Amino acid sequence: MTPLLWQAYFFAIGAAVGSFLNVVIYRVPTGGSIVRPASKCPACSAPIKWYFNIPMVGWIVLRGKCADCGTKISFRYPLVELLTALLFTACYLVFGATGQGIVYMALCSALVAVIFIDIDHLIIPDVITLPGIVVGFVCAWFFLPMTMWDSFFGFLAGGGIFFLIAVIKPGGMGGGDIKLMAMVGAFLGWKAALLIIFLGSLIGSVGGIFGITFFGKTKETLIPFGPYLAFATIISLFFKDALINSYLSLFTR
Ligand SMILES: [Zn+2]
Repeated sequence: MTPLLWQAYFFAIGAAVGSFLNVVIYRVPTGGSIVRPASKCPACSAPIKWYFNIPMVGWIVLRGKCADCGTKISFRYPLVELLTALLFTACYLVFGATGQGIVYMALCSALVAVIFIDIDHLIIPDVITLPGIVVGFVCAWFFLPMTMWDSFFGFLAGGGIFFLIAVIKPGGMGGGDIKLMAMVGAFLGWKAALLIIFLGSLIGSVGGIFGITFFGKTKETLIPFGPYLAFATIISLFFKDALINSYLSLFTR
């Protein structure tokens, strides 16, 4: 296949995975089944015809409304599909159709689910992060250009720092955030874990100030920390070497 065909291929796979992630985001926090997603309108329960289930295309053709009852379908559904499609394409472009590229596509999928579940429900489900820690170790061993020790220290650094904060300042750090960072560290190693904590806190602070200043948010209504950490992880996935090197170069002049 030509590179352009590969890009189209991973874009399509990403869109399909994004469609599945919509089900995960919608059902996992409420304990619903993700194996048998009966595609039906949440308002009128009319079954959604297969051709309207095509990622993004279906929503556009329906112009964001249920074909039967006209209830608005959230823009979030095609957005999640597009976001996942773009992340898969980016993983292919940067890492190729390799084990590493595919592992990072899986990690991106988990992070997209975490971002939207945490925004909606203020939780990061254990069913994503706990298996994710194990998968991170195994992938580091088989597919990723890093040692098992780097993965293990990433797990310790990511989870450990947040765990310490939680011990020192009870209520300061959610258990979900601790497990998320342990997972991310297992996938990307200890240097990236430190970078992601720094970057996530930075983006989170800017986002917080922005939300309070322009959107009348209070400290209680701001979006949680998890989405910022997941977003910082996605940035670090693609730019971590450049970011770590430029950070270190500050001290080695
Ligand atoms: Zn309907």
